[in-house]
Amino acid sequence: MRENREIRYTGVGVSEGVVVGRVLRVHDETRYVYRTRIDPDEMDRELRRFRAAVRLAKRQLLSIKERAEQELGKDHAYIFDAHLLMLEDQKLISDVEHYISEERSNAEWALKVVCDRLLAVYSEIKDDYLRERGSDIEDVVKRLLVALSGEQPAHRNLSQDAVIVSQDLLPSAVAELDLDYARAVVTDTGGWTSHMAIVARGLGIPAVVGLRDFYWRARTGDTIIVDSDRSQVILHPGPDTLEKYRPLTGVVAERPAVPISSGDGGLIKTLDGVEVTLRANVELPAEYAGVKDYGAHGIGLYRSEFLLSRRGLLVSEEQQYKVYSEVAKLAGEHGAIIRLFDLGAEKQHDAQQDAERNPALGLRAIRFGLAHDQIMRTQLRAILRAAAVGKLDIVLPMIADVADIARAVKILDEERLKLDAEIVQQGKVQVGAMIEIPSAVLTAHKIAARVAFFELGTNDLIQYTLAVDRGNEDVADWFRTLHPAVLYSIKHSIDAAKSAGIPVIVCGEMASTPAYAVLLIGLGAVDLSMTPPLLPRVRLVLSRIDSGKAREIANECLECATADQVENLVRQRFLTEWPDLFSSENLPTENDSA
Ligand code: PEP
Ligand code: MG
Repeated sequence: MRENREIRYTGVGVSEGVVVGRVLRVHDETRYVYRTRIDPDEMDRELRRFRAAVRLAKRQLLSIKERAEQELGKDHAYIFDAHLLMLEDQKLISDVEHYISEERSNAEWALKVVCDRLLAVYSEIKDDYLRERGSDIEDVVKRLLVALSGEQPAHRNLSQDAVIVSQDLLPSAVAELDLDYARAVVTDTGGWTSHMAIVARGLGIPAVVGLRDFYWRARTGDTIIVDSDRSQVILHPGPDTLEKYRPLTGVVAERPAVPISSGDGGLIKTLDGVEVTLRANVELPAEYAGVKDYGAHGIGLYRSEFLLSRRGLLVSEEQQYKVYSEVAKLAGEHGAIIRLFDLGAEKQHDAQQDAERNPALGLRAIRFGLAHDQIMRTQLRAILRAAAVGKLDIVLPMIADVADIARAVKILDEERLKLDAEIVQQGKVQVGAMIEIPSAVLTAHKIAARVAFFELGTNDLIQYTLAVDRGNEDVADWFRTLHPAVLYSIKHSIDAAKSAGIPVIVCGEMASTPAYAVLLIGLGAVDLSMTPPLLPRVRLVLSRIDSGKAREIANECLECATADQVENLVRQRFLTEWPDLFSSENLPTENDSA
């Protein structure tokens, strides 16, 4: 019997607000399959269990397909047809059943053996597209394994009070959740810059991450309080605790008294008249409304990899064209910057990535695109075509130096020419570089001469400058946003862009944290992009500071030797200069945000 004692866990609160809800465990889709021997008199039951799992998986797929058709249109639903066909493939089903009977094997093991054989055949296929379809088999196998285990799949419709609890939620899994009903998110891994945290803030729901082994302690249906403001999660809260929390629940910390659609079009001025542009970062359709509601100056960063639901389920050119056209319309006259797929370590489950020794330093982002240029070409064509509908630009992720840019631009030019030859309408796009790894910072002057703009990805910049995994809570103490090395890198990149006369948009999570945003202004930034619900706070703070003062403080920070020194300095100076804007509670201590 499980003991339902009230237990409190502390992690990192990465959004705002408090909710009471019910746990919905969402697994990360990696499962281990073991072999057990089935007694002859249990054979029929095992076969029935397998057939029931196939029926359940079919029902699930039909309902997902229906939902996908309604929400995304018929074109998006074809993926599920392929999966349904597989479940109807009599050869596959009978091979599994045969293995169960002949080998007296449990259904899970039989499924694995049969599908591994099939996958081995697929992996030999020369044609890239067909070989990739192997991932559809993996997907169907996962679904059947979940069905056999009796667990709910990740993409089920969420109930109104669902609190998503997972070890880690990758964009591929997030994209499949019906997040309209999610009340909060709780994960074992991650920090302020992990993608689930970014998405939770975008949706305006509470989130606590970095809870280590909470997933194993919670069960679907358990009552849970998520107190993002205090970085706490309370499992099985007792009546007294529930009573205490009742007045707080559903309350997201008060936002500043600035009209939401502020009418400034995302252009504000500091007290001394420096104009600052505020744009929106967007990942999911659920965030689209925020772009207008919070008055952003277009979309500064569209993280396109959130379009991909799982490895292999690549979105066709036509589907991407529709999405990018919609994004362009949403962004309006100021346009949207589409980042090419930043596929990689923390963003996608991928057998190949898993096999990499050090995936954060592996085949991700632009490297992945250059290595799989067909995927990149399809995406580029879709963007170029959608750029005829509205203003779109492209940013290349994880650029190391000008060689990466030259290779990507060559491919872009080839696709432009092909579209012209096919007489397909296309728009003009500018190409920018994500500056987020140290080699790009150090060669920023050279890169600036080759691109139209920079985007400073401070999340990865911190990770790579300090050699600290941004999603690993064991090293969270070393993830120091205010490390002088990070500040030098930002200053150096901004200066390089300025001397080349190109703009810099800061789009990492630093931009959305008021105290960090002030320092960014002090380091010379005038263009920030962030998750829409956080725009009002940044807008309020930046419109009440003097940029000259911010510069003075930033210069003092650059003289410091350690992150501790910078933090102390920021605390002292901000509290003295802007006591009405900052208090010790809303100034960042590390792994925290203002
Ligand atoms: C970054 O690295 O700061 C960034 C904006 O991109 P992402 O968080 O998606 O890596
Ligand atoms: Mg990045």
